Amino acid sequence: AKERNRGEINYFTLDMSKEIQEKHNLLQALRKAFDNERLFLMYQPQVDLVTRSPIGMEALIRWKKDNGEFVPPDRFIHLAENSGLIVSIGEWVMRVACHKQAELARAGYPHLRMAINISVAQFRHPRFPFMLKRALDDSGCDPTCIELEITESMAMLEADYLLLTLEKLKETGITVAIDDFGTGFSSLAYLQRLSVDRLKIDRGFVKEIGESERGAQIPEMVIQLGNNLGLKVIAEGVEKLAQADMLQKLGCHEAQGYYFGRPMEFSNLLDWLGTQSP
Ligand code: C2E
Ligand code: CA
Ligand code: CA
Ligand code: CA
Repeated sequence: AKERNRGEINYFTLDMSKEIQEKHNLLQALRKAFDNERLFLMYQPQVDLVTRSPIGMEALIRWKKDNGEFVPPDRFIHLAENSGLIVSIGEWVMRVACHKQAELARAGYPHLRMAINISVAQFRHPRFPFMLKRALDDSGCDPTCIELEITESMAMLEADYLLLTLEKLKETGITVAIDDFGTGFSSLAYLQRLSVDRLKIDRGFVKEIGESERGAQIPEMVIQLGNNLGLKVIAEGVEKLAQADMLQKLGCHEAQGYYFGRPMEFSNLLDWLGTQSP
């Protein structure tokens, strides 16, 4: 019996080390991809729900492997976070996104907002404010058109640090959105103290709209909360016209989702913008 147990333990540790090995390999590949400029950004439109015209976009990272296969960000962002690589990748994302905002301005779209995802591990880095400032300055973008998306879990984690850092960052003119709102547990009192501009309703809640009688309840609560606090509210993951109409009826200001446009390469975004009425 003893022998058998030992065997089982060995299988278990083998499985474990296999998983660790795979993660290690993926991280190595990610480092290499980053160095070889195999990472790029796609841009997903955001629209005003009343006029249904473009007001901005979210920058979303992509990794295309040498064999043409795409690795979704949900598979590699947490690896980058755990290894600290996210600090460099995140800085690169900010730099590219800021440059693209400036490019859009030159192309005749000076007011479109560029939303950039920021990880906790990146935000926590002592040089983060400096990296942001440098990206803003070097690109010549309009800082008031740059929005940082931070998650609600970040809003929970480091209260005082977050409060102070946000206030300092906002002196540059940027705006801040709380991403995936409703999936964490931020206290309302705390939310009121944070200098954020926008709440982004998680797509998990948007998905329920129209699915059941009570499907719109959480979006409705978030929209009311946002309106009471004087914040803008944007919904993500809008796939259907009925969802957009319901959100608009509930007082939601903006939306993003496949119904309006998928994440696209920059050149396609420019084409798409050209087809939209001003
Ligand atoms: P997120 O910030 O919540 O981004 C929205 C995700 O929803 C994107 O997935 C987008 O492609 C997807 N999406 C948009 N509209 C729809 C829709 O109508 N239906 C459905 N089913 N999905 C929709 P993506 O691009 O795979 O990104 C996944 C996550 O990876 C993001 O979630 C974000 O947390 C993270 N991420 C992406 N880019 C970056 C980045 O540059 N930096 C950091 N730190 N995280 C990033
Ligand atoms: Ca986001
Ligand atoms: Ca989100
Ligand atoms: Ca999400």
